[in-house]
Amino acid sequence: MIENAPESTAMADSPSPDMPAAEFRRYGKTLIDWVADFLENPRQYPVLASGQPGDLHRRLPANAPIEGEPMEKILQDFNRDVLPMVTHWNHPRFFAYFSISSSAPGILAELLTAALDVNAMLWKSCPAATELEQSTAAWMLDWLGLPSAWFGMIVDSASSAALQAVVAARQRAEPESRSVGQSGRLVAYVSEHTHSSVEKAAITAGIGRSNVRHIAVDAEFGMSAAALAEAIRLDLSGNLKPFFMAATVGTTSSTAIDPVPAIAAICRQHGLWLHVDGAYGGALGVLPECRHFLDGVDLADSFVVNPPKLMTVPLDCCLFYTRSPEAVRAAFALEAEYLKTDVRGAVDYTDYGLALGRRFRALKLWFVMCYFGREGLAAILRRSLKMAAWLGEQISGSSQFELAAPVNMGLVCFRSRQGDDATRELMNRINNAGMFFVSHTALNGRFTIRVAIGNIRTRWQDVEELWAAISKP
Ligand code: PLP
Repeated sequence: MIENAPESTAMADSPSPDMPAAEFRRYGKTLIDWVADFLENPRQYPVLASGQPGDLHRRLPANAPIEGEPMEKILQDFNRDVLPMVTHWNHPRFFAYFSISSSAPGILAELLTAALDVNAMLWKSCPAATELEQSTAAWMLDWLGLPSAWFGMIVDSASSAALQAVVAARQRAEPESRSVGQSGRLVAYVSEHTHSSVEKAAITAGIGRSNVRHIAVDAEFGMSAAALAEAIRLDLSGNLKPFFMAATVGTTSSTAIDPVPAIAAICRQHGLWLHVDGAYGGALGVLPECRHFLDGVDLADSFVVNPPKLMTVPLDCCLFYTRSPEAVRAAFALEAEYLKTDVRGAVDYTDYGLALGRRFRALKLWFVMCYFGREGLAAILRRSLKMAAWLGEQISGSSQFELAAPVNMGLVCFRSRQGDDATRELMNRINNAGMFFVSHTALNGRFTIRVAIGNIRTRWQDVEELWAAISKP
């Protein structure tokens, strides 16, 4: 018997210890107002966090409160201590990494998601979550003009999707690997510009870093198909087993596009799993004028699009597709007694990946797709592309700077004609002023500034003022 168990039903029926509904309504309204002000006037905040490492940590008490605190105080502390150390990713002047945005419909969906607190692990654990995931994934395939028969699901990140692809490919190449581990002869191929998440996936899947080949790229940073064919030939002659290849549509450093049709032909010839990383560039296939970016993707074994990057869906939400769900399932499914259901003919998504607990991510994707529609999304994408093209024109027309890569998507890569030190100084000057945030990469071994345009609230004026900041003497 449990000590101190309630003796009367009156005690058992006491109100929930959660925040009372009236208080929730009050602070809910306050916070919705806060978010609306933020979205209406994001430029009131500096894009970059201020402070030094450890500042917030020092300001917070060493231990969590013993007694609960009033919401008023929590919000005060948020505004005073936390907010200044927030880097505003959802800011129209955030041009670093791949800029992202969280649109209003996506934010509202997140509120519902948190309230429902659904775990989308099995169909039975929440049929709506599973079926909305199936439908939104299929809708996106339709918008991108990709095979409708593909299996689609939503995972947290492109990194997790890459891991699922590598493990499924390992399963197909060496089915016994699930029981006894892989042979040590499997070899994976990426380009010099493939996102590091793919190599990390190969390391995590036990392929071994020394079994990941980095294939050379051409002058525009797309993978050389000839170099890939040669690398595979060498590995085959060394009695190794080429099994996995990652091509990219929109590389992180320069939005280069690997020659997917040629790569697909090589993969088919040698039986490699072809994973196409469209985490950034994939969504641009919605635009008829950019649909050719996805040429050859229909030949892939798996494909990834990350809707937070260009589609205004709040982090996190990553679409993972495969033509071979049976390989993914064979790699990941394990039947635990407590997860068995009597439902037949439904998908249990937990069988297709590492995570058991899965957020109801489809809800925000559904809200965003329905609210903007395909044409609304196309207009959002075109706006970013036009701004990037304009900035690219200013740079290529200037005597101070040069473009470091073609501007084919929403990213502008450039450098000072005076060399790496001058480029680095320029980046630091822009970022230290606090009005804009840009990031960098290395292209052909040279320090390069990246300006990624993709936030839904970025205006022409933001980009014009950024150009003024870049070009001011
Ligand atoms: N692939 C590309 C092309 C990326 O640019 C990124 C991140 O920016 C990733 C994969 C990894 O994405 P995630 O952060 O969702 O794991």
